[in-house]
Amino acid sequence: MAQFTVHTSWLFDPKLKRARTNASITVDAASGLIVEVFDREDAAKPFDTVFRDGDIDLRGKYVMPGFVDAHTHVFLHSYDEAAAIKQKRDESMTERVVRGVNHCRTALLAGYTTYRDLGSEGMQESDANLRDAIARGLTPGPRLFVATKVLASTGSFECRTENSAGGHCLPAGADAVDGVEQCRQAVRRRIAAGADIIKFFADYRRRIMRSPPAQQHPYIPSVLHPPADPNPDYMVFSQAEMDVIVSEAALARCPVSAHCCTLEGALAAIRAGVNSIEHAYFSTDEMFHEMVRKKVIFVPTLAIAEKLHAKRFKEILAQVKRAYDLGVRIACGGDTGTYPHGDNVRELELMVEAGIPVADVLESCTVGGWESCGGDLSGRRFGWFDTGLQADIIALDENPEESPSAMRKVDFVMKDAQVWKRGGRPVGMC
Ligand SMILES: [Zn+2]
Repeated sequence: MAQFTVHTSWLFDPKLKRARTNASITVDAASGLIVEVFDREDAAKPFDTVFRDGDIDLRGKYVMPGFVDAHTHVFLHSYDEAAAIKQKRDESMTERVVRGVNHCRTALLAGYTTYRDLGSEGMQESDANLRDAIARGLTPGPRLFVATKVLASTGSFECRTENSAGGHCLPAGADAVDGVEQCRQAVRRRIAAGADIIKFFADYRRRIMRSPPAQQHPYIPSVLHPPADPNPDYMVFSQAEMDVIVSEAALARCPVSAHCCTLEGALAAIRAGVNSIEHAYFSTDEMFHEMVRKKVIFVPTLAIAEKLHAKRFKEILAQVKRAYDLGVRIACGGDTGTYPHGDNVRELELMVEAGIPVADVLESCTVGGWESCGGDLSGRRFGWFDTGLQADIIALDENPEESPSAMRKVDFVMKDAQVWKRGGRPVGMC
């Protein structure tokens, strides 16, 4: 049966930012799209007469669009297990692909039907390859929008080379380019290599990357009296380089994301006209006003900040609330992979902790996620319920507006009209 209907009694509508009662969604298995969303008149027309063979009854559950994680790394596993540099150094590409496949399955079962994956972390274009394998039905996972290699300048998002006498060779984490023309070429190279989105580093800890033997120049460990801030972030691209990255990507209608951990890096990226900035742990009201004016999306990555910036975390939470209050467009992305895939909703919980209403958090994790993927530039629509959208539907056992932990109790997952979880158990995966 190509078409069937999912019946709900509580359906969160992100566009209205509230739940609709007694709504049903007819989907088409052949196209993977929503055919119709309609309100049932249960009092006038008994449910038994509406329900057909093959329909799905989610009444009593809390139903919403599939979640979108706006900042992930499918080939990373938790930094609590191994730092990124160790993962790149010690794990074979085959192991990392197998881990990536597992991560995607786990994410889908956690209710995440879309991932915006911002850098393959030494895995070259394997993120685009994994995207295609999922799209071809070879393995379950979220719909991936990928960056392939990130852009960064020489010596920035790279391993240090001062101790290279041993001939150590690590997979490159970035497409390292310098100057306007190389930046333009790199954007063209990324798009040709399958990137859906261009990701560049506006700034980075330019002296921190370790290469074997383990070393963290020049202060930790073993330095007796290190300074308070041994590894500060500095800009890695000039304004002209950022400008050309954005203008070249625009020719291919490709959205641009910028890693920004300094205020000056964020301001330059915003000035260049990026679609989203990631992290932005240092901000001002002027910066947020400029983001509103230029429609730049903020992806706060609170879930990794909680671990890496514990001392400043309260301040970081307050900044995210300030951005929300000033009307900055927020998308939910935790830098997932640096903490476990499947634990993605930690980002939502922290946004609630920051003081953002649950309905707005859910909207940021659905419609906001779609916008972070480029909106209509992504070639698809998902993240709310309407005719012609991807049929991505999840159901929770408990009401998220009453308890944020409800977002961890995923009973049902459908992506592109295919059911992957029902009654809390995986379907069609072994
Ligand atoms: Zn990241």
